[in-house]
Amino acid sequence: MRVIVVGAGVIGAATAWRLRRRGVDVVLCDPTPGMGATHAAGGMLAAISEVQHGQAALYPLMLASAAEYPTFITELAGDSELPTGHETVGTLVLAADRADRDTLALLAEVQHRHGMAVEELSGREVRRLEPAVGPRIAAGFRTPDDHRVDPRQLVRTLLDAALRHDPRRLIIEPVTAVAAQGDGWSVRLESGRAESADKLVLAPGVGLSGIEGLPPQAYAPVRPVFGDVLKVAIPPHLLGPSDTHLLGHTIRGLVHGVPVYLVPRSDGHVVIGATSREDGLAAPSAGGIWRLLRDGGTLVPGLLEAEFVEAVARARPGSPDDIPLIGEVAPGLVLSAGYFRHGILLTALGSRLTADLVCGTTAVDDHDHLAAVDPARLLTTAVGHDRTA
Ligand SMILES: Cc1cc2nc3c(=O)[nH]c(=O)nc-3n(C[C@H](O)[C@H](O)[C@H](O)COP(=O)(O)OP(=O)(O)OC[C@H]3O[C@@H](n4cnc5c(N)ncnc54)[C@H](O)[C@@H]3O)c2cc1C
Repeated sequence: MRVIVVGAGVIGAATAWRLRRRGVDVVLCDPTPGMGATHAAGGMLAAISEVQHGQAALYPLMLASAAEYPTFITELAGDSELPTGHETVGTLVLAADRADRDTLALLAEVQHRHGMAVEELSGREVRRLEPAVGPRIAAGFRTPDDHRVDPRQLVRTLLDAALRHDPRRLIIEPVTAVAAQGDGWSVRLESGRAESADKLVLAPGVGLSGIEGLPPQAYAPVRPVFGDVLKVAIPPHLLGPSDTHLLGHTIRGLVHGVPVYLVPRSDGHVVIGATSREDGLAAPSAGGIWRLLRDGGTLVPGLLEAEFVEAVARARPGSPDDIPLIGEVAPGLVLSAGYFRHGILLTALGSRLTADLVCGTTAVDDHDHLAAVDPARLLTTAVGHDRTA
């Protein structure tokens, strides 16, 4: 079987790698592999600390994907000599004031009700674990099972494993149109060249609406939700007691009601993220950068003495209900998009479900997951609205 994967972000790359492992002949098309939302992502695998009120349908997917991550990483490490960027260090969620602490405590109740491991800590206990945390932080919650990965490294390694030293399998061009062709599919590239395959996987993130010729049910309502992210380098005089890093844990926080996170990278950088904007501004926003530095500096004041390295903005592929869209939307055409805020976490599960749909090997155990992510749910909602009208 020959399969074309449109989009080489973390989802397309992971799907292509999984298909290669199953002996499928795979080609990826992307003008800028790995440079979409994946490039900006913090890489928090935060199935527990990302729990939000009113998103009960999303938790099982997040928890299932977190549970699959160790196997996903072990298998990937066996298929590439590059590092995976995965770290099993836990997360601390900090409260800047009493109201933030009360909000986090309410969330902890939901997390406990779902059997998730969360432990409340005093400010002193927080600073014992992370001495760089600021003196004004009065409370925190520890989620030891929320790990992290460096998404830029992960996608490099996934592509390496998917291509297996055959760079011809990656076509550095956008797909402009697709068409059914006999029992299979063909894609048209920007240069006018055409490629055909038995099956097609659509994983173009927010690029979905720019592709012509898709059947109506494949045009899922994926919208760009921009996020600004900063990167700083920690100078030697700020290094922690072990002399390796300013921070060990991933630090998330609420600062007077506004969320911010700090993700240490193994190369000594710290990523500070992220804003959430639907203003159409594709470049980093001045206000976003100011807020991230202000709130990040409240949690860990030493960050403001660090070297500023980078500010980037990217669009999260937002879905109407925050849940991805994964399904065979026409014979041989598999959609895997709309991963929104949790695509790095959901890669383990989402890429496996996508590869299973391509190969026709979906497991009975995945029935509930596939029902939750079925793109047809959004179609049903639309029809429901019409009926009401
Ligand atoms: C600021 C920010 C922080 C985030 N933090 C986290 C986090 O901590 N944890 C987490 O789990 N998730 C996080 N996310 C979400 C996560 O990054 C996304 O859900 C995930 O990267 C989606 O992956 P993707 O492969 O679907 O999309 P993308 O990474 O956007 O990849 C899509 C690819 O498709 C290509 N493409 C587009 N159109 C075409 C076309 N016509 N033809 C060919 N190729 C095309 C693009 O060039 C791109 O490379 C964050 C996102 C942002 C923006």
